[in-house]
Amino acid sequence: MTNYRAIADQVAEACIKAGRSPADVQLMAVTKTMPVHVIQQAIADGATLLGENRVQELAEKRPQLSLPLGGGVPQGTVGVHLIGHLQTNKAAKAVQHADMIQSVDSLKIAQEISKACVKQGKEMPVLVEVNIGRDPAKHGFFAEQVHEALHEMSALPGLQVRGMMTIPPIFDKKSETAQIFLQMHQLFVDMRGKKMDNISMGILSMGMSDDFDVAVAHGSTLVRVGSAIFGSRI
Ligand SMILES: *Cc1c(COP(=O)(O)O)cnc(C)c1O
Repeated sequence: MTNYRAIADQVAEACIKAGRSPADVQLMAVTKTMPVHVIQQAIADGATLLGENRVQELAEKRPQLSLPLGGGVPQGTVGVHLIGHLQTNKAAKAVQHADMIQSVDSLKIAQEISKACVKQGKEMPVLVEVNIGRDPAKHGFFAEQVHEALHEMSALPGLQVRGMMTIPPIFDKKSETAQIFLQMHQLFVDMRGKKMDNISMGILSMGMSDDFDVAVAHGSTLVRVGSAIFGSRI
């Protein structure tokens, strides 16, 4: 047993409180460091979307979970997204094993993913990671760099930009987190309005164990929850 169902209920409640449809927000179970048998419990509890932050771990676990390899996730099956920083020399492996790469944090990595897609004859859905809090310890584009980055990415074969992802700085107060989510949502709406070739802005991935309710109140369409589902990782 995991807390997946309880958290799914809380996400749905947060949607209703915000006047949104629960169908508009996806719950990802972040399975990094969790052993395969625990992940299988989460799937039995209803999880259909998993998140791993390291390519190597994703590549090792995926066959053990008997999940069919990438290339789109058919209805009723389980998908795995890469959510951690990706090094250029691991782009090919990520393209091979992930259903989506949420952590595209530089043009360089976008280009490497594109090259790997062409080589492997694949299309890879990706999210652009935004360092909305301008945290020097975090990866991602600054808000003012996003438009130009999207423009460049729209020309890269195999790369399908589907939206944005962010990890906010850690604040003591929920009101501060809310402020940053508000800024992120504004950027998302602005970019959605630009209508660039080959770019769609359907997914806003923000919110984790401590703040998914705040994220849902501010327009998140995908929350990434680890410790609230599985307990702490140590
Ligand atoms: C670990 C991780 C999460 C989940 O964090 P929790 O606080 O355990 O919910 C979400 N997003 C990313 C990118 C992560 O690495």
